Amino acid sequence: MTNFDLTEEQQAVRDMVRRYAREKIAPIAAELDEAQQFPEQSFKKLGEMGILGIGFPEEEGGMGGDTLSYIIAVEELSRVDGSHGITLAAHCSLGVWPIYAFGTTEQKQKYMPKVCSGEYLSSFGLTEPEAGSDAGGTRTTAMLDGDHWVINGSKQFITNATYAGVLVITAKTDKEAKGSHGISAFLVETDLPGFNLGKKENKLGLRASDTRELIFEDCRVPRDALLGELHRGFPLFMKTLDGGRISIAALALGIAQGALDASVPYAMERKQFGQPICEFQMIQSYLADMQTEVTAARHLTYHAARLKDAGKRHSMESAMAKYYASTVAMKATTLAIQIHGGYGYTKDYPVERYFRDAKLCEIGEGTSEVQKIVIARELIKQHAG
Ligand SMILES: Cc1cc2nc3c(=O)[nH]c(=O)nc-3n(C[C@H](O)[C@H](O)[C@H](O)COP(=O)(O)OP(=O)(O)OC[C@H]3O[C@@H](n4cnc5c(N)ncnc54)[C@H](O)[C@@H]3O)c2cc1C
Repeated sequence: MTNFDLTEEQQAVRDMVRRYAREKIAPIAAELDEAQQFPEQSFKKLGEMGILGIGFPEEEGGMGGDTLSYIIAVEELSRVDGSHGITLAAHCSLGVWPIYAFGTTEQKQKYMPKVCSGEYLSSFGLTEPEAGSDAGGTRTTAMLDGDHWVINGSKQFITNATYAGVLVITAKTDKEAKGSHGISAFLVETDLPGFNLGKKENKLGLRASDTRELIFEDCRVPRDALLGELHRGFPLFMKTLDGGRISIAALALGIAQGALDASVPYAMERKQFGQPICEFQMIQSYLADMQTEVTAARHLTYHAARLKDAGKRHSMESAMAKYYASTVAMKATTLAIQIHGGYGYTKDYPVERYFRDAKLCEIGEGTSEVQKIVIARELIKQHAG
């Protein structure tokens, strides 16, 4: 594989996570998927390795790596198991990053060392039953009562929630404000009275990852749990999603690469009509499409990560990377099953799991339709000057 001009540090992270994923995660991934079992031990170990704080400065308790190193870590985990990939992505991009970017000094001192070490996993609660793609349609409310905010409402499909020590959630703080206005973000510790976990989702794919409903019933959080500016939660989560989308692109990229990794040796070994199926031009055409599109998705994804590292605007590039890599993941996993024939349709080979896992990439953190809205909107903005 081309090196993509990775620095020595980025290559070291890639090699370390790749080794761990191949040796420790690949052998248990199918079992975890079948049992819908969250890999607690893996995340304990990844915490010890520094991977849960990989993209954050050492003085905050992180590993001091850059966004690209983190993106490569998500990619390498997803290459063997998407459930591990999405868990890391949701923790770092959606849970930790807003604390790092918008937290006060006190909030960062309180939470950053815990979330970077893995003492706490973290989560991001934006989606609600009535507020999916229309994330500004938040109905959860947080009203000030003395020294506390009182939160009521529910959140839907929240990754890592069962295992999280702290959540970042959004709630309406100005009930009169229209649309996406009057929303604020809060840090909620998960042992507070009034915070309850709802239904655990029984999912098509990424079954070893944790996806939960959250229910807030007069949940009182301290006044200083407000994250960022009052009523300015919408821009906060839009910026959070700009980064998060790169991590879902990395999830898709890893799954697509995993599908290709499985397909090449299979096509070389499997014989029909007296020859390995890789000698048939139609199979070669599938492999060529997969290799080309996975490489193109990697370019888009790494480019978006590098823009973020350079502190440049990356809304359009993140959306393009997510949209394209997700499409590639669906196609590559479909072709991988086709190359494996009937065996690919069984649980004896990992491509069946990759195919199921890939679909989430077209839905989570903004559907593909929403990514196209973001891309077109940014394009029009640029042309308008
Ligand atoms: C496994 C999993 C993990 C998740 N993790 C999290 C998490 O950690 N935190 C969190 O907050 N959320 C999370 N989500 C929620 C996810 O972000 C939403 O499911 C997603 O944004 C889509 O919202 P929705 O499901 O309500 O679909 P809807 O918004 O109801 O969309 C249904 C369909 O309508 C289309 N549509 C909607 N609006 C438009 C439009 N304006 N133009 C064109 N088409 C449109 C959509 O693209 C889609 O095809 C997760 C979801 C899943 C499945």
